[in-house]
Amino acid sequence: MTCTFHPDRDTLLGCSRCGRSACPECLRDAPVGHHCLACVQGLAPDQPLTPSDVRLLAARDRREQRARTGSRRPGWVFHAVLAAFVGLCVATGPLQVEVLSSVPLGRAVAVGVILVGVVLSVTLHEYGHALTAYWGGDRSVLAKGYLTLDFRRYAHPLLSIGMPLVFLAMGALPLPGGAVLIEEHRLRSRAWSSVVSLSGVVMNAAFALVLAAVVASDVLTPHNIVLQSLLAYLLVIQVALIVLNLLPLPGLDGYGVIEPFLPRPVAEALNAVRPYGLVVLVALVLSGGLDFVWDAGFTVGGWLGADDLLVGIGASVASLR
Ligand SMILES: [Zn+2]
Ligand SMILES: [Zn+2]
Ligand SMILES: [Zn+2]
Repeated sequence: MTCTFHPDRDTLLGCSRCGRSACPECLRDAPVGHHCLACVQGLAPDQPLTPSDVRLLAARDRREQRARTGSRRPGWVFHAVLAAFVGLCVATGPLQVEVLSSVPLGRAVAVGVILVGVVLSVTLHEYGHALTAYWGGDRSVLAKGYLTLDFRRYAHPLLSIGMPLVFLAMGALPLPGGAVLIEEHRLRSRAWSSVVSLSGVVMNAAFALVLAAVVASDVLTPHNIVLQSLLAYLLVIQVALIVLNLLPLPGLDGYGVIEPFLPRPVAEALNAVRPYGLVVLVALVLSGGLDFVWDAGFTVGGWLGADDLLVGIGASVASLR
């Protein structure tokens, strides 16, 4: 007898539901006995299987297996982003601030350091949410691939593409955002829910401290003013992102921190306006109502060693205009 799903394999085993022959690889534990791939996928016991059905079943099963196991290790996308960031930082070595505006390639490298740096920080931010959600009881983040630090998993059509375009059109830095879908009901308590919301910006803060350490160290001064100023600018962006994310606006992390502890009627009323949170945010940016976010970035950045002059150089060499 050969396996229904592997015509080239001999087997003595079979499905305890439909009786189709199947090799051990094509049988799954069931409450009683073992079920074949066709039964696992809900096919009728007597449904005839064409070779293309068999291929489809096997492919779907492989996908599900992979999704079930998930991975907690950084994937190749994260390593690629990290390598690109380090590579671009190194590539700033020969650049001089004075002549940078006349060297298009140098300019592209400078813009690249900021853009890839922001992608890296969004990755870390979303990973922060996902990792604490995992610790807090939402194991579903594993199967969603959130623990692989793969930016593609966090990219969101509106936050990662729509919003940056709006910001770009306004002449502001095209800040990309990301999103992870946390299954809140799986979290062990309201406090965990708060912690999960908070942990995104904790990652931004950690990244900011690393940047501050590099900017303040004499690894870079006076040899590489370009890189030092770019990292100082990236540091200010991190602080701005932290302040922005902590605004208690429905849809932003700051609201997520307090929401679990709001009286139910209040939370329900605010959740109803959540879809408009992004619109309110864009309106605030357009009206200059969020200038304080950048002010905070400059102030705290200054405390951390990114003085205004340095940040100014960074912002101008990485400007798209
Ligand atoms: Zn088989
Ligand atoms: Zn079966
Ligand atoms: Zn967040």
